[in-house]
Amino acid sequence: MIDSHCHIAGDEFAGDLAEVVTRAQAAGLASAMVILASEDAAEVARMATVSAAWPAAVCATGIHPHSAGHFGADPAAAGPAVAAVIDSQPRCRAVGEIGLDYHYDLSPRETQREVFRQQIRLARDRHLPIVIHTREAEGDTFAILAEEAAHEVGGVFHCFTGDRPMARRALDAGFHISLSGIATFPRALELREVARLVPADRLLVETDSPFLSPVPLRGSRNEPARVVHVAEVVARERGVTVAELAATTTTNFERLFGSIG
Ligand SMILES: [Zn+2]
Ligand SMILES: [Zn+2]
Repeated sequence: MIDSHCHIAGDEFAGDLAEVVTRAQAAGLASAMVILASEDAAEVARMATVSAAWPAAVCATGIHPHSAGHFGADPAAAGPAVAAVIDSQPRCRAVGEIGLDYHYDLSPRETQREVFRQQIRLARDRHLPIVIHTREAEGDTFAILAEEAAHEVGGVFHCFTGDRPMARRALDAGFHISLSGIATFPRALELREVARLVPADRLLVETDSPFLSPVPLRGSRNEPARVVHVAEVVARERGVTVAELAATTTTNFERLFGSIG
């Protein structure tokens, strides 16, 4: 199994990263996609520690919509800023997470849109898939993906929380869908319907650690080992074994992001 999205190079894991990796490996994880905020030098630097502990881990880097405001005066600078981090990371496999977040609105929306566009262009230049974060911004997200021909590189809607029509839209556009611990929450009935409808070859699972710890571990710091709880719920919904789900999602991960070997 692979945790397709986590932030274990962040400060929350600085004190016990080796133990977190050991627990992930003990839980049967073959790899994880570590998200590096391109503007966070400490997080980017800590990827070396992650790689030393877990050589199979891979990474993605980008400017999160929450941080897009840093480039408000010059959105075109976002591309070179991310490119520099890509060049510093031999295990970089994607541009992300990038997108639009109109729920928190921590950056002006126009800036979010422009920084998102710049990073899709970079991903196309580098032939890298994208990791998409979108919240309460469905229309603009799909419009920009289409206008920037993002399907040419493909990618994943990470921590998918939309409804079935949005899932079909993402799938029709050629993207993968990654389910997080939210799928285990009691009220997430619609998301468990989504878990049933995603074709086997488009599905991924993730933790989004340190956020969104799954049932039965809600309320504490999340970590990659807990992706197993996400997989158990998704497998149950789909009527497959956890081992089957692990195999298909691992195949999907490697097809999208490259071999973990
Ligand atoms: Zn996100
Ligand atoms: Zn994330």
